[in-house]
Amino acid sequence: MIFDTIAAISSPLGTGAISVIRLTGKNVLQVIDDLFSNKNPEPKKMYYGWIKDKNEIIDEVTWVYHKGPKSYTGEDMLEIFGHGGILVTKKILNIILSKNIREALPGEFSKRAVMNKKMDLVKAEAINELIHANSEYALKAAANQMDGKLSEKIQILKKELFNIAARIEVEMDYPDDFEVDNFEFLNSLNAIKEELEYLYENADNGISAIEGIKMAIVGKPNAGKSTLLNALLRKDRAIVTDIPGTTRDTIEESLSIRGILIKSIDTAGIRKTDDIVEKIGVERSLKAIEESKLILFVLDNSTGIEDYDKEIYEKIKQFNKDIIIVINKSDIHNKDNFDIPWQNHDVVRISAATGNIKNLEDLIYNKLKNTVTTNEFTLTNERQKQAVKKAIDSVIKAIEGIELGLTNDAIMFDVRKAIEGLNELTGEDYTETLLDNIFGNFCVGK
Ligand code: GDP
Repeated sequence: MIFDTIAAISSPLGTGAISVIRLTGKNVLQVIDDLFSNKNPEPKKMYYGWIKDKNEIIDEVTWVYHKGPKSYTGEDMLEIFGHGGILVTKKILNIILSKNIREALPGEFSKRAVMNKKMDLVKAEAINELIHANSEYALKAAANQMDGKLSEKIQILKKELFNIAARIEVEMDYPDDFEVDNFEFLNSLNAIKEELEYLYENADNGISAIEGIKMAIVGKPNAGKSTLLNALLRKDRAIVTDIPGTTRDTIEESLSIRGILIKSIDTAGIRKTDDIVEKIGVERSLKAIEESKLILFVLDNSTGIEDYDKEIYEKIKQFNKDIIIVINKSDIHNKDNFDIPWQNHDVVRISAATGNIKNLEDLIYNKLKNTVTTNEFTLTNERQKQAVKKAIDSVIKAIEGIELGLTNDAIMFDVRKAIEGLNELTGEDYTETLLDNIFGNFCVGK
């Protein structure tokens, strides 16, 4: 499919050595002729030229023509490399747009690549995740998916489902000549189910690597929660003061511990209160704890364990989460090393104020690393996971149908539904709305 011609600035808008402007669509050759008086450019060759607005010189550039379908989008494309100034780059884009060319929507280049079958949806999402990755594990998860092994596996599974569908169809058309071998079908369907279940069960690792793992920091006022969050972030984000209860609301911060993306929530108090504002804070904190995978329970070495700490512990233990007991202010030695009355938790001593938190970081890393480890077959978002779930459910129904001796029609229906699920995963069965939703999150020019 060849669509209308669109253009966008594909490099970040800022001052740099080079900026890139891209075009794709049916009128690219016309634009090249208009801009550079070249009617017959050789594909993939870098040309040198000038961008002019009427007779006024705008920039000295290089440019490359990519002839469809051998291009990122599968259509004719033009890439112009100009000097990387904000104003000059915008001017070049405006000159192009004045030639009846439309400005591209976010992700529209990649959307076209998918629509033109240059790549599947899984790969397009992987590219986007790669661009936005802000931790080592996220980068690994995205890069793993980009290599295409997952897409290959899905194609193989789909082919097997098609084979099953075809054989059922033959039997339906020629019931006297062919007999379906149920045993063989069950074997194939069970093997497909196992492969899909492996993908489904490991999806959470990919999602955690990309989206981050939630961790709540709880403790009484002044225990040092904000100071700890800052130490983990190594920047002054949360406001630290000596007045108890400064952290009125929850503060969510993204941080990376040894390459694992963590969404850390510094909670407001979780003590019962009559104050309306505080009450909202308490509710938010409880919700944050509920959503977290890990809780850091911060105690204050300078006060020892007080009733307030006990009250908090009683509250958080109800959530049945992994709790790390963090004894902060270990630089202040005015209390004997107190005993922790609560069993079965890891205990670490730190000093958030002096930045002595390495043992805590090590512990968090060791606890979480297995939950973000990915391979080439790891799904990386909820959409992919749900598409696979749909396929699994349908394969299970088909298996049950065969076991119950249902009609070929009924089994065929479920096999088709399973194929549909896999098509949704790879984007072969797309609707414009689905693609718009996905690509709306991409950068302009990608
Ligand atoms: P929050 O209410 O739990 O968030 O506590 P803050 O982070 O605001 O800290 C309360 C006070 O304790 C501040 O004065 C911090 O400077 C101090 N503090 C925090 N961590 C440490 C620490 O490791 N050692 C010492 N000596 N003081 C700390």
